[in-house]
Amino acid sequence: MGIRENIQRVRERIERAALRAGRNPGEIRLMGATKTVPPEKIREAYGAGLRLFGENRVQEGIRKIQELKDLPIEFHFIGVLQSNKVRKAVENFSAVHSVSSLKLARKISSAALQKGISYPVFFELNLGAEESKSGFSEKEFFSSLEELSSLSNLKPLGLMTIPPLGEDPQPYFIRLREILEEVKGVFGPQFKELSMGMSDDYEIAVEEGATILRIGRAIFGERK
Ligand SMILES: *Cc1c(COP(=O)(O)O)cnc(C)c1O
Repeated sequence: MGIRENIQRVRERIERAALRAGRNPGEIRLMGATKTVPPEKIREAYGAGLRLFGENRVQEGIRKIQELKDLPIEFHFIGVLQSNKVRKAVENFSAVHSVSSLKLARKISSAALQKGISYPVFFELNLGAEESKSGFSEKEFFSSLEELSSLSNLKPLGLMTIPPLGEDPQPYFIRLREILEEVKGVFGPQFKELSMGMSDDYEIAVEEGATILRIGRAIFGERK
């Protein structure tokens, strides 16, 4: 199957899931998760209508952003972000979905301050409390709220999560939506995005309120 057919099929499934849930499919953005995917394939996905892409590594992402700068597309950072790469990430990506600690949030805010901008971020929650994953625990997130909301050069757009592999993802998606509702008042009206759902679980994510789906293999095929 080609990239174009894959995107078409994914879009159809998103639409059906949205309609089942009584949602408007138009409020759901599809992001191509393109770690290891070469620029030519991203170009192909652009040709099939994709406009948003997500990268996991700063250097790999910057190379592709530069190669594809003739295209009107947007790149978000979705991987583990090391402190020493924050400045480069802020300069090259238009948002970070993986703000996983207060320390990282402070660093991004100060990099944004130096650029004189307000930088769009998502807070990543590790709802499965997995050692192997980064992200705020629920408890850490709630106890960090006050400081997170005071970081004046962050523009918090919403929450992101990756459910534990091999478990039913639905309770995790539901919990992320509940937390978004609970803390909406803290961050203001632009705090409304749920970045959740990947190749194996995006229809469930749509049913539970996802607004950005990060999809790799279902579009680009298995990674080597
Ligand atoms: C790789 C990746 C995805 C996409 O995963 P697929 O299973 O290929 O759809 C989404 N989000 C993050 C953070 C990823 O690293």
